[in-house]
Amino acid sequence: MLPFPRRIAVLGSSGSIGQSTLEVLNQSEGQLVPILLSVHRQTDILLKQLQRLQKLPQWIVITDETADRSPLKQLPKNIEIYFGHEALCELVRRPEVDVVLSAIVGSAGLTSTLAALEAGKTVALANKESLVMGGALLTGLVKKHGGRLLPVDSEHSAVMQALQSWRMGATSVPCETHAPQGEAAHSIAKIILTASGGPFRTKTLAELASVTVKDALAHPTWKMGKKITIDSATLMNKALEIIEARWFFDLPAAKIGAVIHPQSLVHSMVEFVDGSVIAQLSPPDMRLPIQSALNYPYRFPGTSLKVDWAQRQTLEFYPPDFDRFPALPLGLEAAASGGTAGAVINAANEEAVSAFLEGRLPFQDIVRVCRAVLSCHHFEPHPTLPQLLAIDRWARKEAGKWTSKRDSIPVSD
Ligand code: MG
Repeated sequence: MLPFPRRIAVLGSSGSIGQSTLEVLNQSEGQLVPILLSVHRQTDILLKQLQRLQKLPQWIVITDETADRSPLKQLPKNIEIYFGHEALCELVRRPEVDVVLSAIVGSAGLTSTLAALEAGKTVALANKESLVMGGALLTGLVKKHGGRLLPVDSEHSAVMQALQSWRMGATSVPCETHAPQGEAAHSIAKIILTASGGPFRTKTLAELASVTVKDALAHPTWKMGKKITIDSATLMNKALEIIEARWFFDLPAAKIGAVIHPQSLVHSMVEFVDGSVIAQLSPPDMRLPIQSALNYPYRFPGTSLKVDWAQRQTLEFYPPDFDRFPALPLGLEAAASGGTAGAVINAANEEAVSAFLEGRLPFQDIVRVCRAVLSCHHFEPHPTLPQLLAIDRWARKEAGKWTSKRDSIPVSD
């Protein structure tokens, strides 16, 4: 078990998860201390973050070497500054790092996550794209090098808490010499991921045809980055989380489901073979799953919002509508396929979301593009890293073709 204080490398500190992580570090009373902060090019935000941190990191990394370096002149002289992805990969392997919080947006976060796992580190994974894209690779590295991959995504954190364990690699059958930690794999009937339904939960198929970028960015319960907010509106976020759950909990796609829960109070549930269901509840506040991962398996007081039980609470659950939100069946198919399917959907989706945000693609075509690209890719069941990177490039290029001649996208999903 890792000791306290734990030294935390925060990869992608300027994003929404990074910001929340720094709040968690600041309120941990010295139990969680930053050792490394990385940003892509937002050196001005990084400077402000450093001014607010109670304890300064030893290293900072700017992964885009063309970023504005002028704010860095104001940094204290004892902080070492590095540039580029390779430097980041080298630093996360160092023995001074206890936990790597991986929050670099998109597939760009994959290489640093792989480097940390190769060094046997505990990785708190907020970047779901890494697992969606390279699930087999990452889980293979955890088993080979004895590291650990902990969920920061609120749904998977809820499942981890309901199971009372991080599942992957856990003993699945009780035996006399090795008491199982948490619930056994054979006791799990189904993992049920909750989805708020996003801003378009009640919209009809016809109404979805004319939604704007502004509409899609207005999420009802979570305040998040742009890309994930669009993914929440299409429910592609839930599709990616189904694939993510398949790897985190080593379960077949048939044992993973999703339900619409507009209040975002239940973050996910586990149904057991005897019919018992255990759910994790808390207000929507990412500081809790971040704190749960960084302190795993311990609990400490924190600043996350608490449920106000003096108020009347209503919990609603609806089955998801696969016709209005075709991302969900696509996610289940990709989770069942494994191999390169996740990488293709992830890359095609990133490209299609960018096109939508730039006004080049209608909302409903985001998922259509993903399905079209998935259906014409050469499936590889056990991809290597070079193969994954190649398929990622191919899927982006292919999605680019669809977004520039969108009349030819099949309309029936
Ligand atoms: Mg989530």
